[in-house]
Amino acid sequence: MKLQIDKRWWAVAALAFAIIAFFVLDLGQYLRLSTIKSSQAQLEAWRAAQPLQAALIFFAAYVLVTALSLPGAAVLTLAGGAIFGLGWGTLLISFASSIGATLAFLASRWLLGDWVQSHFGERMAALNAGVAKDGGFYLFTLRLVPVVPFFVINLAMGLTHIRPLTFYWVSQLGMLAGTIVYVNAGTQLARIDSLSGVVSPGVLGSLVLLGLFPLIARKVIDVVRARKIYLKWQRPEKFDRNLVVIGAGSAGLVTAYIAATVRAKVTLVEKNEMGGDCLNTGCVPSKALIRSARFLSHVKRSNEFGIRSATADFEFAEVMERVQRVIQDIEPHDSIERYTALGVDVVQGEARIASPWEVEIAHADGSKQMLTTRSIVIAAGGRPLVPPIPGLDQINYLTSDNVWALRERPGRMVVLGGGPIGCELAQTFARLGCRITQVEKGERILPREDDDAAALVTRRFVEEGIDLRFAHEASRIEVVEGEKVLVALHDGKEVRIAFDALLIAVGRQANLDGYGLKELGVTTERTVQVNDYLQTSFPNIYAAGDVAGPYQFTHTASHQAWYAAVNALFDPFKKFRADYRVIPWATFVEPEVARVGLNEQEAREKKIPHEVTVYGIDDLDRAIADSEAHGFVKVITVPGKDRILGVTIVGEHAGDLIAEYVLAMKHGIGLNKILGTIHIYPTMAEANKYVAGNWKRAHGPEKLLTWVGRFHARRRG
Ligand SMILES: Cc1cc2nc3c(=O)[nH]c(=O)nc-3n(C[C@H](O)[C@H](O)[C@H](O)COP(=O)(O)OP(=O)(O)OC[C@H]3O[C@@H](n4cnc5c(N)ncnc54)[C@H](O)[C@@H]3O)c2cc1C
Repeated sequence: MKLQIDKRWWAVAALAFAIIAFFVLDLGQYLRLSTIKSSQAQLEAWRAAQPLQAALIFFAAYVLVTALSLPGAAVLTLAGGAIFGLGWGTLLISFASSIGATLAFLASRWLLGDWVQSHFGERMAALNAGVAKDGGFYLFTLRLVPVVPFFVINLAMGLTHIRPLTFYWVSQLGMLAGTIVYVNAGTQLARIDSLSGVVSPGVLGSLVLLGLFPLIARKVIDVVRARKIYLKWQRPEKFDRNLVVIGAGSAGLVTAYIAATVRAKVTLVEKNEMGGDCLNTGCVPSKALIRSARFLSHVKRSNEFGIRSATADFEFAEVMERVQRVIQDIEPHDSIERYTALGVDVVQGEARIASPWEVEIAHADGSKQMLTTRSIVIAAGGRPLVPPIPGLDQINYLTSDNVWALRERPGRMVVLGGGPIGCELAQTFARLGCRITQVEKGERILPREDDDAAALVTRRFVEEGIDLRFAHEASRIEVVEGEKVLVALHDGKEVRIAFDALLIAVGRQANLDGYGLKELGVTTERTVQVNDYLQTSFPNIYAAGDVAGPYQFTHTASHQAWYAAVNALFDPFKKFRADYRVIPWATFVEPEVARVGLNEQEAREKKIPHEVTVYGIDDLDRAIADSEAHGFVKVITVPGKDRILGVTIVGEHAGDLIAEYVLAMKHGIGLNKILGTIHIYPTMAEANKYVAGNWKRAHGPEKLLTWVGRFHARRRG
C-alpha cells in the first residue's frame, strides 16, 4: 500500500513538473493560432517531404497535449486540418484525441479514483449507479455539446465507475462530429482570425441537437415501451379513484393515509386483519411476548440485583393472552374507523388487479365490486417461507403466522433458522420454559451482523440454556411411534433431534400469487420488481413494503409508502427516487443488536476503506448500575475523518440508542459533533458519546499537543 502511495506521489510530481515546464518555457506559444498560421507553409512543406514522420510527431504531440490536459487542443485540431487535410487530419486527430483523453481519464482514476470513492463513497454510490445505467449516454452528450471543457470531462469521468473501454469508444464517437467541423475549418486556416469564429451558431446548434438526440431517443423509447405494455388494455375514460391500495399492512396504511392527506380519492383493500403482519403476527405480538419473557429472565437473575430469591408463577396461556390484549390495544391505530375518519375508503375484501386501471374486490358475502383507478399501489406483504422438507406434511408445524395461537407450552421446541425472527422467538420461548434447540445451517446465528455482535448473543443464548446447532441442515421430519424427530445433516452425518413443536423461521417470501400479477404480466422475481420510483413494469402500478423489498421492516415499508403514494399521485409532474441511504434495524434479543449503515463485515467484503472505533458498554456507569454491563458501540468511519459509514450497537436499548447515529448519518453529522453534544448522566446514551471520545483520542493532534505540553512546562517555570 505504502509503495503504491509513493508511486502515485512520483506520478503527481512528474505530471506537475511537465505542466509547470509547459508554462515556464512558454511552450504554449507553439499552440497559438497566430504561430500556426505563420508557420503553415513550413508545416505543409514538412508534411510533403516526410509524411509519416510528420503524422507520427503530430499524433504524439496531440496525445501529449490532451493527456496532460494542456490548453491548445483546438488550435492543434485546426493545424491538423491545415497540414493533413480533412480525411487524414480527422483520422489522426480522432484517434489521438480519444487516446489522450483516455490517458487523462486513467491518470485521474489512478491518482484520485480510490480516494474519491472512499471519501465520498455513499454520495458517489448514486452517481455510480447513474453512470452504470446511463453513463455512456451522458458522456456522448457531453462530448457533442461543447459546454464543459473536454479536459474537465476526462478528469471527472475518471472518478466515476465508467469502464475505460466505454469511455474510449463513446468519447471517440461523441467527439467525431466536432473534430470534423474543426479539421474542416483548419483546411481554410488562412481565413480564420480567432477560435470563436470557427463554429458558427448554426453548427453549434446542430451539435447540441446531435448531443441531445440519444437522451431524447431514450426517453421516447421508454415512453413507447410503457405505452406498448398497455396496448392490450382499454384505458377507462374516467376513474372512480385516484388510487387503490392493496393490503392494509404498514405499507398500505401509510400509502392510503398520505393519499387521503393530499385529498386524493383512495380505496384501501384488506382481505384479512387491518394492520397486516406487523400488528397481528409480527412486530407487535413478538415484542409483547419478548416483554413478558424478559420479566421472567429478570426474576431468574434476581440475585444479580441483590434480591436473594424471586419466583414467578405464570400460566403460558395467560402470557399468550396478554399478547392478544396488546394487539387489541394497538388495533385502533390501524382500524377501519380511524382510516375512514382520515378520509380513506376502506374496503374489506380480496383485491385482484383486473387491468392496469381496474381492481376487482371480492367481498366475504360473495359479491364483487370493480373499481377503476388511475394508479394502484401493491402492498400485499409477505409470508413465512416454508422449505420443502420431506415429512413436514405429517406434523402441524409453527411459523410466525400461527405461533401466536399457542396456548399450551411445548416442552421441546425446535426453532429452525438463526435469523432475527428465529433468534427473537428462540430466546423468548426458552425464557417461557420451553427447551429450545435452535438449528441453523450456517456457521452462526445472525449472519448479517458482525461476528462479535453475534458472539455476544450466542454466549447469552448458551447461558440461557438454548441448545445451538450450527452447520445443521434440516433433511427430513420423521414421526416414529408418535415421537416427532427432525433429522439434520451435520458434517455428513445424520443428527436426530426429537421435538414437540417445530417453529420454522428460515425467512420470508413476498405474496405474489392470487391477485392478478401473473395474468397482467407484472414483472416479478422473488419480489415484485420495481424501479427507483417504486414503479412496477406497469408505470401506473407501484409496489411497497415486503412485497417489493429489498428490506423487510415496518419502518422501511412505511418509508417506501411515502414514495409510492406521492409518485403514484403526482407522476408525471413530479416523482421521487426512494432513498435507502440510511436504513436502521434492530434484532430484539438480549443483548439487543442494532445497526445502521455499514458494519465491519460488509466494509471488508466490499473493500471499502474504513476505520473501526469501539466503546465497550461494560465500562458504562449506567450499564454497571443496571447490571447490564455488556455489549459495545462500534462505529465505522472514513479513514482519518469523523464521517460515519455505519454503526453497530449491542446491549440494553441498542434499538433506541442507534437513533442518534441514524440522525447523524442522515444529516451528515460526524463524531466530533456527537462528542460536543451533552448527553445526560447516567444514561446508556452516553455510550454514543464515549465511542466518539475514543475516536477523538485516536485522532488527537499529537504534534500540537506536544507543543502545548511544552508551553505549559514553560509557564510552570
Ligand atoms: C415475527 C416477526 C417479527 C417482526 N418484527 C419486526 C420488528 O420488530 N420491526 C420491524 O420493523 N419489522 C418487523 N417485522 C417485519 C414486519 O412485520 C414487516 O416488514 C411489515 O409488516 C411489512 O408490512 P407490509 O405492509 O409490507 O406487509 P404486511 O404487513 O404483510 O401487509 C400486507 C397486507 O396485505 C393483505 N393482502 C395481501 N393480498 C391481498 C389482496 N389480494 N387483497 C387484499 N388484501 C391483501 C394481507 O392480508 C396483509 O394484511 C417482523 C415480522 C415478523 C414475522
